[in-house]
Formats: sequence, C-alpha cells, structure tokens
Amino acid sequence: MGWVEGYPREKIKWHPTVDLSKCVKCGMCMNCNKNVFEWTKEGPKVAHPNACVVGCTTCANLCAGRAISFPDIEELRELYKREGIWGKVREKLIKEGKIKVD
Ligand code: SF4
Ligand code: SF4
Repeated sequence: MGWVEGYPREKIKWHPTVDLSKCVKCGMCMNCNKNVFEWTKEGPKVAHPNACVVGCTTCANLCAGRAISFPDIEELRELYKREGIWGKVREKLIKEGKIKVD
C-alpha cells in the first residue's frame, strides 16, 4: 500500500467504525471498492478493517446518517512522524520519478 510504504498495515489503527443506531441504510459505504464492509440485515459491518486505505475518510464524509467515524487524525500523523513513514514514501516517489529534487 503506497500510503504506508512498507510499514506493517496491521500496526496502524485506521479503519471505519459504524454506529448502527445512526445508520439509515443508504448503502453508500458499500460503494468502497476495498471490500472493507459487508452488508448484513442490520446494516454494514466492518468485516476487513485493514483493507481500509490509511488516511481515507470518504465513506464517513458521504454517509447519509453521519454514522461512520475514524480514529483521531493527529494520532496517525504522529505515527507517520515517529516511524519516518513520510520520508520513506518520499524516497519511493523520487525513485519512481513522480517527484523531483534538485
Ligand atoms: S475510508 Fe476510504 S478506503 Fe476506508 S472504508 Fe471508507 S471509503 Fe473505503
Ligand atoms: S453510508 Fe452510513 S448510513 Fe449509509 S449504509 Fe453506510 S453507515 Fe449506514
């Protein structure tokens, strides 16, 4: 996963949580193509949390019931700083020629 560049995905706490008491069953979250959610008769279940793209919040932003939440983004940013993930992603992008440095 390019956003984490080699850091173990399972060590990153980033995935949606659904409050089914707010869910209006619009189905929008099932639009995610990462297979994170499975539909049940109660509504969506977070079946594969580590398939979620680290840092993404699209399903929460477009949830009709405002039923989806994520961990604190500042904790994620702190992890990126502490583990040097920003630097590793940057090195990869330079190697791939996607960013250029003088
Ligand atoms: S945050 Fe993004 S990748 Fe994760 S489940 Fe929602 S839409 Fe899918
Ligand atoms: S997008 Fe929100 S309201 Fe719609 S089904 Fe998913 S959790 Fe429920």
